[in-house]
This record gives sequence, structure tokens and C-alpha cells, in this order.
Amino acid sequence: MSPFPVVLSAPSGGGKTTVTKLLMGRRPGLGYSVSCTTRAPRPGEVDGEDYCFLTEQEFLDRRDRGEFAENALVHGRRYGTLKSAVQTVLDAGRHVMMDIDVQGAAQFAVAYPHAVLIFLLPPSVDVLVQRLVARQTEDRAALLTRLHSARAELQDVDRYHYVVVNDALEEAVERVGSIIDAEERKRERITGLDVQVAGLIDRLEQEITSFSKA
Ligand code: ADP
Ligand code: 5GP
Repeated sequence: MSPFPVVLSAPSGGGKTTVTKLLMGRRPGLGYSVSCTTRAPRPGEVDGEDYCFLTEQEFLDRRDRGEFAENALVHGRRYGTLKSAVQTVLDAGRHVMMDIDVQGAAQFAVAYPHAVLIFLLPPSVDVLVQRLVARQTEDRAALLTRLHSARAELQDVDRYHYVVVNDALEEAVERVGSIIDAEERKRERITGLDVQVAGLIDRLEQEITSFSKA
């Protein structure tokens, strides 16, 4: 089975970062595609680990050189996935976990049609707002921008292959994990299936012949 990208989208505060981090801690077969952004680092965020933090000019230069697999303006800042970041993880034989917005996911799905697209839904708007406020990473104005974006993002759910409600965290992580498990078993992802099945049929024919002689 060839590794594939797993795109996780949700409104801000929907739990993408939390679910991704938990899942990656448990599944060694997953790697993370570190995105680039022009937004400022939050306290505790590490350049090159959480994001590659770029200036507007650096971002535009890299975009113009065709380095991004997808890029978008999200909540007024630029975000993008480097083709090299995706390729490095796939080359290591790992599925690539990607936490990207709905515009980026749509672009990415065209360039990488074998990607699995999962949308994390908050259990309710009250819970979403509560979690965002409790995270304390945005001021009131930035929070309002994110709520506006959330309204638009929710309208794009039908572009996704799977939807997971992030109510109880453990269950949400389990659900995303089981989607990856199921995707690994998709017929079209299994390499060498034709040869494997042809071998079984050959062997079966030998058994049938020998049984019919007995
Ligand atoms: P996103 O990356 O989608 O913006 P986060 O992963 O940062 O969202 O989650 C937003 C906040 O909600 C964080 O403070 C996180 O700890 C919390 N959170 C996420 N999922 C749950 C959950 N299932 N139950 C309770 N809190 C959660
Ligand atoms: P945050 O600033 O909260 O880390 O992320 C804000 C939004 O940007 C989230 O919806 C997140 O999924 C999105 N995002 C993060 N990285 C990328 C990326 O590489 N490309 C795109 N298109 N969106 C991204």
C-alpha cells in the first residue's frame, strides 16, 4: 500500500491541531507536513515545527517559484503547503497529516487526487466558541474574523470524504484513526493485488484439478 495524504479541515477551534498531535503520538506510520504562514507565532510555537514562519515577501517569492502544493489567504494571513514537505513524508513511507483550510484542501485534492479529506465538525457553536475563547490565542477582533471564516468553511463540508464530530476527544481521535485504517484497505490502494489474486486463482485451479481426479 502506498502512503497517502490525510487532510484535516475544521473551523478554527474545531480541534485539528489537538487531534493531529494525539494521533501522531500514537501512530508511527504518520508524518506531518509543516505548513508555511505569514501569521505571527503564538507563544510556545516553534519555527520549523509548528509552522515555517515567513514574511509576506518570502511567502510570495516561494509561491512564485511554484514551491507550494496549495496556498490560501485564511483569516487575512497566508498559509501554504510546500510540495517538498509532502514529498519528504511520502518518501519516508508515511501518510502525510495535513491541517489545512477548505480552500487549500480543494486545491490540494486536484493536485493529489489520492488524498483523503476529513472534516472535523464541532458538536455545537457554543462549544466551538467556548473552546476558542478558552484557548486564549486570539483577541476579540481576530476571534470574530475566525467566526466569520467558520461560517464560510462549514458550507464546504460536501467537498470532504468523511466527517467526524469532535465531541469527546478520545472518540474523535479513534474515529480519524479508523478512517485511516479503512483507507489503507481500499482495493485501489493495495499494491500488487492483481498478482496476489492471480496467484491464489492459479493455486486454487491446481487444487480443483487434484480434487476432481481423486
Ligand atoms: P484548531 O487547530 O482546529 O484551531 P485546536 O486543536 O487548537 O483547534 O483546538 C481548539 C481548543 O479546543 C484547544 O484549546 C483544544 O485543547 C480544545 N479542544 C479540542 N478538541 C477538544 C475536545 N474534543 N474536547 C475539549 N477540548 C477540545
Ligand atoms: P491557525 O492560525 O489557527 O494555526 O490556522 C488557521 C487556519 O489556517 C486553519 O484553518 C488551518 O487549517 C489553516 N492552515 C494551516 N496551514 C495551512 C496550509 O498549509 N494551507 C492552508 N490552505 N491552510 C492552512
